[in-house]
Amino acid sequence: MSKTPVVLRSFRAKAKHRKTALRRFLTRLEKNPVRGLQSLVERTEKKVWAETDCLTCANCCKTMTPTYTPADLNRIARYFGMTVAAVKKKWLKQERGGDRDWMNRSTPCQFLNKSNNKCRIYAIRPADCAGFPHLGKRFRDFVHIHKQNVESCPAAFALVEKLKEQVSK
Ligand code: SF4
Ligand code: SF4
Repeated sequence: MSKTPVVLRSFRAKAKHRKTALRRFLTRLEKNPVRGLQSLVERTEKKVWAETDCLTCANCCKTMTPTYTPADLNRIARYFGMTVAAVKKKWLKQERGGDRDWMNRSTPCQFLNKSNNKCRIYAIRPADCAGFPHLGKRFRDFVHIHKQNVESCPAAFALVEKLKEQVSK
C-alpha cells in the first residue's frame, strides 16, 4: 500500500467535524474494551503507518511542543557545543505549573526545516518526539493522549477511525 500525502487543510476540516464522535468512541472503548483490543490496536497501527506520510505533514512539529528531559537537554547541548543553560535560554521555556517541564518557547519548532518538513536534529531529537504519537503503545495508558491528538495528528485520527470501523463491524 502506498503512502497518501497529508493535506493539512482538509485534515483540519475533517478533524473538526469528527473529533467529538471519535472522542466519544474512545471513551466507550476505554470503559468497555473489546476482546483482543491491544492486538487490534497494534495491527491497526501498522496499517496507519503504511498509509501515512509524515514528511507531507509535520503538524506536530508545526503546532505542538515536545517536553525535554534532562537527557534530551544534555544530548542537544552537546550536539550544538552549547551548555544546557544556553539551550534553555535560546529556545525553551519552563512550564509554570504541573511538572515544570521544559518546552519550546514558540511554534513551529526551531529544529524543523520548513522547506522539507524534516527535523534538523532527527538523530538526537527529544524522546517525546521519537515516541509521538504513541499509537501502538498500551491503549489504556495512552487513550487520553489519542483523544487530544485526533484533532492535530492525521495518524492518530486514522488509527481511531479505523478502530471505530473495525469495532462497529
Ligand atoms: S506524527 Fe502525526 S502530526 Fe506528526 S507528522 Fe506524523 S501524521 Fe503528522
Ligand atoms: S525536535 Fe524535531 S521532531 Fe521534535 S518537534 Fe522539533 S522538529 Fe519536530
